[in-house]
Amino acid sequence: MPVEVRELCMASSFMRFFRFVAIKNMEKRSLGNTNLLITPVGMGVLTVGRTQLNLPVKDGARIVRYALERGVNFLDTAEYYETYPYIREALRGTDFEPVIVSKSLVSSYGGMAKAIEDARAAIGRDVIDIFLLHEVRQAPDFENRAGARQCLIDAKAKGHVRAIGLSTHHVDAARLCAGQSEADILFPLINYKSLGIRNGANPGTKEDMAAAIKAAAEAGKGVFAMKAFGGGNLCADYTKAMDYVTGLPGVDSVMIGMGSESDADAAVDYCEGKLSADFRPDVGNKRMRVDQGDCEGCGACISRCTSKAIHYNENGRAEIDGTACVTCGYCAPICPVRAIIMF
Ligand code: SF4
Ligand code: SF4
Repeated sequence: MPVEVRELCMASSFMRFFRFVAIKNMEKRSLGNTNLLITPVGMGVLTVGRTQLNLPVKDGARIVRYALERGVNFLDTAEYYETYPYIREALRGTDFEPVIVSKSLVSSYGGMAKAIEDARAAIGRDVIDIFLLHEVRQAPDFENRAGARQCLIDAKAKGHVRAIGLSTHHVDAARLCAGQSEADILFPLINYKSLGIRNGANPGTKEDMAAAIKAAAEAGKGVFAMKAFGGGNLCADYTKAMDYVTGLPGVDSVMIGMGSESDADAAVDYCEGKLSADFRPDVGNKRMRVDQGDCEGCGACISRCTSKAIHYNENGRAEIDGTACVTCGYCAPICPVRAIIMF
């Protein structure tokens, strides 16, 4: 074999080995009683999409791929986020096979069937690993979505999804999960300051949500948490925020919104014990704002925000209270004039 070819082969082998090592460095663990193995942090793909940073697909996909190259094997998306193209592009031509979570806000059987089919087609996968009822708002909402729940059960039986369950900001909805034999997964909101946690029509506490998480885990459900940083409000205490959520009994993994390579670096370095205790990420580009020049004062966003973070200001325009906003991004697509953006 010519020297150049041999060197090329050695370099190629090294690169494969290097990637193997990088992936192996991230611990993987079982997700509840599912057969899925996940890394202790996952990437929330929402951040790169239309409701937040609105990056071009190639730029958002580059960040998704970077997270995968750093060893993250767990991606969170949703029908509502419109981020499937980023994932498809990130996986194109690679051998990565991350565990993919998607979810839908719909209530009906047919709506959920369409959501699952759309996800399979748009991501380019026959099977979506995890599919959830998205943002179950209070216990009655769970009951009202019986059609969508039945569809998830049937989709799992057909092999179109591997695991099913619910995502929620609500303690009362999270509590239901432990008693649902068909549910495999709970994806709850929790952070050390209880930011964004709801309980019925009222604010909820981290203690109550932690108890619901523990009960779900003891019933064999896989649990991964969202909003460990309270939508950016707790980033100044990055390690404290992560220590709290990762230390909760029953939490298998934490989804972190990643809008840059440095976000992925911080999350992976944290998991590998390499992040300094006083690490402070740059969060200057991660706040939701209402463009006052565009807002028409219709109030749709105020009704949509379950965190009660939006109010009318003295000019009759919507304004976001950054201390209450958990940057879920749910308000942005509602706005008829696209006045809500992430800076
Ligand atoms: S204002 Fe409300 S709906 Fe909008 S991103 Fe913040 S918490 Fe979510
Ligand atoms: S939905 Fe848009 S236009 Fe309506 S109040 Fe909110 S920001 Fe303003």
